[in-house]
Amino acid sequence: MVSEKANQIGSSPTLKMSAKAKAMQAEGIDVVDLSVGEPDFPTPDNVKTAGIKAIQENFTKYTEIEGIPALKKAIIDRLREDHGLSYTPAEVIVSAGAKSSLFHLFQALINKGEEVIIPAPYWVTYPHSVTLAGGKPVIVQTREEDGFLLMPEALNAAISPATKAVILNNPCNPTGAAYSRRQLEALAAVIRGEDLFVAADEIYGKLIYDGFIFTSFAALGEDIKKKTILIDGVSKSYAMTGWRIGYTAGPAAIISAMAKIQSHTTSNPCSISQKAGLEALRGPQYEVSRMVTEFQRRRNYALMRLQSVPGLSCFKPQGAFYLFPNVSSFFDKEFQGMRIRNSYGLAYYLLKEARVAIVPGDAFAADNYIRISYATSLENLEKGLDRIVAALARLKPAQKAKRAALQNTLTRVKKAVPVEPSVTVPLRDALVAEMESRLGPAQVYEWNVNIHGVIVRLRTNLPHLYDFWMENWFPAQLEGGLEPHGMIYALDGIPGRESRAYFNSETRTGVLVNTDSYGPLRSLAVGLVMDTTERMLLSHGLRGMAAECNGQLLALIGPPGTRKTELFFELIQDKRFRIHSAEQFFVRFTGNAPLADCVERKFFLPTNTVESLPALAPLFDAGKCENVVVRKEDCQDAECLRGEDCRLDRGSLYCYKASKEAQALLDPNWIGGPAAHSKRAVLRWIFLLRTDPASPAVVEIDKDEALRWLESGESPGLKKSLSPAKSQPYFNPHLLASSPERMELHKNLWRRLLQSTSVYLFNSAAGKAGDIKKVVTGAAD
Ligand code: PMP
Repeated sequence: MVSEKANQIGSSPTLKMSAKAKAMQAEGIDVVDLSVGEPDFPTPDNVKTAGIKAIQENFTKYTEIEGIPALKKAIIDRLREDHGLSYTPAEVIVSAGAKSSLFHLFQALINKGEEVIIPAPYWVTYPHSVTLAGGKPVIVQTREEDGFLLMPEALNAAISPATKAVILNNPCNPTGAAYSRRQLEALAAVIRGEDLFVAADEIYGKLIYDGFIFTSFAALGEDIKKKTILIDGVSKSYAMTGWRIGYTAGPAAIISAMAKIQSHTTSNPCSISQKAGLEALRGPQYEVSRMVTEFQRRRNYALMRLQSVPGLSCFKPQGAFYLFPNVSSFFDKEFQGMRIRNSYGLAYYLLKEARVAIVPGDAFAADNYIRISYATSLENLEKGLDRIVAALARLKPAQKAKRAALQNTLTRVKKAVPVEPSVTVPLRDALVAEMESRLGPAQVYEWNVNIHGVIVRLRTNLPHLYDFWMENWFPAQLEGGLEPHGMIYALDGIPGRESRAYFNSETRTGVLVNTDSYGPLRSLAVGLVMDTTERMLLSHGLRGMAAECNGQLLALIGPPGTRKTELFFELIQDKRFRIHSAEQFFVRFTGNAPLADCVERKFFLPTNTVESLPALAPLFDAGKCENVVVRKEDCQDAECLRGEDCRLDRGSLYCYKASKEAQALLDPNWIGGPAAHSKRAVLRWIFLLRTDPASPAVVEIDKDEALRWLESGESPGLKKSLSPAKSQPYFNPHLLASSPERMELHKNLWRRLLQSTSVYLFNSAAGKAGDIKKVVTGAAD
């Protein structure tokens, strides 16, 4: 529903962590919040008074877009006084917080595809601010050994003809690293020779410790000043985060472009806040030094505590109000079975077990770290650190410190693709010629499989499809002149064509174009085989799940949404039932007995089946998967997301439940061993599934009615939710043929099948697996 841009962007992890802590506090849980990015001090009284006065004097209307002249003058004066810089009013703009300044800056500066170099660990907003402007963030990792500073050589190496700007955050959130004048000069030497700008985010410039002397990047010379856009604000230095006042000083052309953009986003920053900001910058500055003294005391305390923890190392920051300890030695440790795998896992553990909120380093592109804010009272800090230290001590080496290696292929196409089931022979020939012309000798993967006696050859240029194809079906001889009954081409990278499947029944040819996922290929293969066996062998493909009990088979057949999978896996957990097939099976008559064959070597199952049978998860781990979700952003499970108890947050590397489109190949012999898998049995019971509030759990159904029902492909309880286009005759989406003769043939099979089996309507809103067992075994559960 929302734009691709919005989908790709995660909301601020720092703000999310604080929100989580606040929500827990609201529930009465005593959480210590060390995730905050704002001073705990109140806004100074003189500043508050200025705000109140602004209201009393009705200074509550629109102001100049770029900020009131008095405030701009106060900014200019402060920049001169603090850094010896000289700016004109045309070179200054005030925005609704420095975050907004940065957003407008990149909108004003960046053309599509231009690069912005961002040293990491970085403040979470930078890459998003750049990408939202159409730019490309180029991340340069800094090293703890280098004091988390961007090295001139690394900067030099990252510069390309597309580089438009570099972000220099001094002092840095999250590491607290600050650049000395000498270190800045070394970067300036690189920048002097390049055509690029420096976005110098100096919002923590006043929060520096141990007598460190802060230098503004713009103060390195007139030539550098021309290339520098200085960002600052009152949020941090004057404890004014909620007032939203940030400012930018730089070349007039950039400032006026920012003003144009700002005139269409926020207009002026809040008038009242501007008056308060004016007082903050112009009034007495002793509150700032008081705050700095207190922050330094807290930093020293917290650092001392962290440095005494075995296995933990912590860089000594010179500025801002964060500590950024390296916690990687706790990865792969565990507490009561909860394994820490990464910084998200550790953050989750500390929140749940220690009731302390911190921010995982991964949010800043540094997964080996966590960010602890000391912008909170010493008392709180002490309590939080006591808890962190104790919780880290409780972590023990994991029993088996082995990471599960998921064999997972992420595909571009994730859903079923449109099928043209009856292309003509000339069109088929043209398609085949086109496909063959695209298959270079070094790029063709070919394999014959035997699906219910029908030999199907796949020719593809995608190793992933070839891999799944070979695992899914039983192999047939490839060499030695065995001609296949059917042929499927599956090619990706065909220019000018949509993702689509084509089928020609006469030549039994399937063509799958520009589709890199396995589901559509499998469906085309099943359709081709059904088409072949129905006409040649009078054997029919049925879509459903089947289990065997005492040598006889029951089948569950129905549309999605009727809890088929849940019921099925509940049934097969009963030792009296053996798994037969999970999606598709073939039936033919020997005498009067309908004999059903499982034709798959491995089942292609949605991974969210683990919700019905959690024991499948380790089996999926051991097999091959497609499109399993590895990033929280890709999760589709809205209910789970609302619950805020995400396994990816807890450090899991992937989630089987997060997407309906994630699939796994499962060897049925792995569920209870070969003895628990039946490959052939006589079909005895058919349960047609529906869901509605009124019907009884199980009723035997008149066979003509059952046939009408199957033919229409509509389950009464689901009519409203299933559009006519989605109704599938016989609930079988693989049925390719639409000619009247073929449909008649299929119908005849069903007629005969219904006559020789017991047929029930099962209402999954009212019944349980036990009701099916009762019918099949004749006994109560
Ligand atoms: N830059 C950095 C590095 C920050 O940490 C923050 C706030 N966390 C900002 C800019 C934005 O501050 P604001 O929007 O409150 O002025």
